[in-house]
Amino acid sequence: MAFETAPIINALRRVLPEARGPYHLSEPHLQGKEWSYVKDCLDSGWVSSVGKYVDRFEQELAQYTSAGHAVVTVNGTAALHVALVLAGVVADDEVLVPALSFVATTNTVAYCHAVPHFVDCDESTLGVDAHAVDEYLADIARVKDGLCINRHSGRIIRALVVMHTFGHPADLDALSDLCEKYCLQLVEDAAEALGSRYKGRHVGHHGCLGALSFNGNKIITTGGGGAILTDDARVARHAKHLTTTAKLPHPWRFDHDEIAYNYRMPNLNAALGCAQLQELPQKLEQRLRLHQAYEQALAGLEGVTLVKEVEHCRSNHWLQAIALDNDDEETLQDFLAECHRQGILARPAWTLQNRLPMYQQAPSMPTFTAERLSRQLVNLPSSVILGEEV
Ligand SMILES: *Cc1c(COP(=O)(O)O)cnc(C)c1O
Repeated sequence: MAFETAPIINALRRVLPEARGPYHLSEPHLQGKEWSYVKDCLDSGWVSSVGKYVDRFEQELAQYTSAGHAVVTVNGTAALHVALVLAGVVADDEVLVPALSFVATTNTVAYCHAVPHFVDCDESTLGVDAHAVDEYLADIARVKDGLCINRHSGRIIRALVVMHTFGHPADLDALSDLCEKYCLQLVEDAAEALGSRYKGRHVGHHGCLGALSFNGNKIITTGGGGAILTDDARVARHAKHLTTTAKLPHPWRFDHDEIAYNYRMPNLNAALGCAQLQELPQKLEQRLRLHQAYEQALAGLEGVTLVKEVEHCRSNHWLQAIALDNDDEETLQDFLAECHRQGILARPAWTLQNRLPMYQQAPSMPTFTAERLSRQLVNLPSSVILGEEV
């Protein structure tokens, strides 16, 4: 049977009435104390790299996520970069990363002068497939003296980065076991997943380190920003040091004890973060309500499946996604073109990382599931404001 676009778009119209478009994917929503906190920064002159909102935002994030510690950064990419450095990733290591992810996941490995090694994802969680990676590593790697060595390249495989796609938690128990078995550091790219839980526990601190993002399109925003999460106080202190030029405390001397980064989050942005974090419970509710509206609208419809939470997981429902039953590129492009013509600014998932020109030569396991999903997945308009209206 030929794939029919019209019934799907008609169903989406019940959530996205024609009169109100165009519908963007995920817009910032600033309805809390943002004005008053930012005004406080301006009035006090504390707009830049230190100030009370930075400390406060870090404390509130640690509390909300129940991670022992949060260190805020200039963006999520910087947070992930430093998380990898602290996980011990050094030049010429290999780091396992999902082929299905945003480019920052892979770029941060390259910033460490390490080699990304791509792995496949699981159909239901959209996160790294622990079982498939286990079989793959059994074949290509060996563990010796507490290190995982790639038999083909001879390099150390130091870490596995997992990503919680669109806010849906990856299977963290299975992935933690995998990392233990192969002596890998587990790092979570939780950029999309603030508010998401795996077996009741907030994501981002199941491994040694995790990274959050507060970019404009994420579930809460600081304009631009990110955070490193860890349960380890020593790692957290080092994270703060590495993101603030490794300056030794002194009233006037400029002494620095290692090569570090100027990745700190300005106080202005942290002020936005404090205000936004207060609104997070409502934002989660509204995103859930929107998800349920899509669920209702698409119920019983052929040719399409809404991506849903798997057992034991609470998604923040940051980005709503459907998978088209047809997995050919032409169907996907036609569907997206029709959506855009009608003011529904839907997007495909990312081009797979192992297809990008700078990473085509990097090692990769077969990524059949990721490849198929990249021809099926479509992100739908997911802004908080839509959840208020449905
Ligand atoms: C948004 C995002 C990042 C990077 O965050 P920035 O704050 O934009 O640097 C990293 N990984 C994933 C999966 C993301 O979605």
